[in-house]
Amino acid sequence: MCGIVGYVGPRQVLPILLSGLSKLEYRGYDSAGVALLSDDRIKIFKKKGKIVNLITSLQDKDIRSTLGIGHTRWATHGGVSDSNAHPHTDCSGKIVLVHNGIFENYYEVKAELATLGHKFQSETDTEVLAHLIEHEYQKVVPLGLAPTLAHFEQAFRAALRQVEGGYSIVCFSQDHPEAILAGRMHNPLIIGIGQGENLVASDVPAILPYTKEVYNLQSGEVATIKSNSVKVTDLEGHAISFQTRTITWNAEQAEKGGYPHFLIKEIHETPNVLRQVLSGRIIDHHVEGATLGLDGLDLRKIRKVTLLGCGSAAYACLYGKYLFERWGRVTAEMFYGSEFRYHEPVIDGETLVIAVSQSGETADTLASIHKAKESHPARLVGIVNAHGSSMTREVDRICHLQAGPEISVASTKAFSSMITTLALMALYFAQTNNPGLAMQGFLDELSALPETLEKTLQLEDQIAQLSTFYIHKQSAYYIGRDVNYPCALEGTQKLKELSYIHAEAYPAGELKHGPNAVIHAGFPIVCLVPQGRVYKKMLSNIQEMRAREAHILAIAQAGDTQIAKHADHVIYQPASSEEISVMVSTLVMQLFAYYVTLYKGFSIDQPEGIQKVYPMPGHITSVPKSIDIDKPRNLAKSVTVE
Ligand code: GLU
Repeated sequence: MCGIVGYVGPRQVLPILLSGLSKLEYRGYDSAGVALLSDDRIKIFKKKGKIVNLITSLQDKDIRSTLGIGHTRWATHGGVSDSNAHPHTDCSGKIVLVHNGIFENYYEVKAELATLGHKFQSETDTEVLAHLIEHEYQKVVPLGLAPTLAHFEQAFRAALRQVEGGYSIVCFSQDHPEAILAGRMHNPLIIGIGQGENLVASDVPAILPYTKEVYNLQSGEVATIKSNSVKVTDLEGHAISFQTRTITWNAEQAEKGGYPHFLIKEIHETPNVLRQVLSGRIIDHHVEGATLGLDGLDLRKIRKVTLLGCGSAAYACLYGKYLFERWGRVTAEMFYGSEFRYHEPVIDGETLVIAVSQSGETADTLASIHKAKESHPARLVGIVNAHGSSMTREVDRICHLQAGPEISVASTKAFSSMITTLALMALYFAQTNNPGLAMQGFLDELSALPETLEKTLQLEDQIAQLSTFYIHKQSAYYIGRDVNYPCALEGTQKLKELSYIHAEAYPAGELKHGPNAVIHAGFPIVCLVPQGRVYKKMLSNIQEMRAREAHILAIAQAGDTQIAKHADHVIYQPASSEEISVMVSTLVMQLFAYYVTLYKGFSIDQPEGIQKVYPMPGHITSVPKSIDIDKPRNLAKSVTVE
């Protein structure tokens, strides 16, 4: 996601903003900009592309300023261009702001403001916010009176109360050059408290050179930041007292949010990612097709959905296939990109093709898109995380994963976004094709998914503890039935990628057709056993394997009273339907693969003969040298070769 930095104090602000933005580069971005208050006027500089473009454009300029804000943009609304880059201003040019997130109801607000005469310079949702604050400001300042900072604060809060969706916003006004205003809902924002100077940023690395005292602004809070004071209120203006904390991380730890690896940081980001994925897509008991890339499509004329992807994206597609058929009542097929390109596909004007890729640069998926295009499908939709990637130019419509940059090579939050997005698409089909489906239950479960996953993350200590048992295993099976088969595939993918332990996934009923021969005493089998129609069948399969002395790790649901009798270890995840349990089990298996790898790494590092130490989450002060969890051997994040 984007990066935000703001500063007010005695120092020259431009170098602080530019170095702060550079320290947030790891978050990923496509353009950068700053706004400074200089000679009582707002000056804005912004450029698409790398921060260095912005720095170069500023080289011959002498800008004196001690208050300013900066931004690196990860475009969601409006293409990647200089004019869409932040900061954005209102009509008067006196209010300027930067924004991270999506202003979901921007379209309606923009239309209303346009009728009142507001003129917009960009295609972004963000600019509408600047005009909305201007509009509220005009309402609160009494006629003939000079506006005060209190009026500006009031207008800022009034505007934020109208914003739907997650955001972090940092703003200032030429009329009130003493303060920066900041507000947050779900998206990150921290305030750095210095000596006679204060900062605001998306993340700690940007403020570390100036202060280690921070306050994490909470959702629904706004702050007025001056050089000598910070005031926090709620959206109604009621004062909130706050406690700062002292950062003890070094710069590298700060980039990872204090976690030992990007991978575990990204796993923890999943609930918030899904908040973004779900926002604005379930409205009044139905799924909105517009941002899914499906609106305007005559679903009655779609006879087949062809899903294309590689690696984890392919497993997400397989999950999608199950749901398109079950919920959407449309034939669906999954192809690996690397296979489809040499296949003779049966695609025609009644086929919807959906290609899935985190990077949007996967060579095999891109080649498959070209292949699919030759047969003129009804529509080609790309589900992709990276804005502006090659895939975005090749497909008819884009559906963004909104996972933010994923730095760890092994996918976690982007995969969770893929399966959630595909579930939404399948329900969108169900609205037309399957009126008998009791959809509301699934919609409710999806809406509650961020909270369900937050609860699931509380299992981290238990999963870590359990993981130590598996670090010396050479091989494992993962089994599940129905939608939990693709889920098992992704579970093995994580274990293989991270720990280098060999693992295979099977539909549980398939073991007796061959793979059983491998099973021996102590052979680990991870079993996905949510409650539902295949629960009893899974119990039978587990018994068959136990009869062969396999070691059973069951991933079951809270409230299951039977499973403990059949398994060596059980992880009880929050209960949900079989279909939605996939998102929950995915998180459990990601944590499992991470901790197996972490402890395996520690075990290899530590000399034989001494008592091995496996620090639990929250107490990990170093990382293993023997296994690079964020960059597994032989793998690349974006596979741009065939
Ligand atoms: N939605 C805004 C835009 O597209 C903000 C994106 C961001 O978080 O960087 O400009």
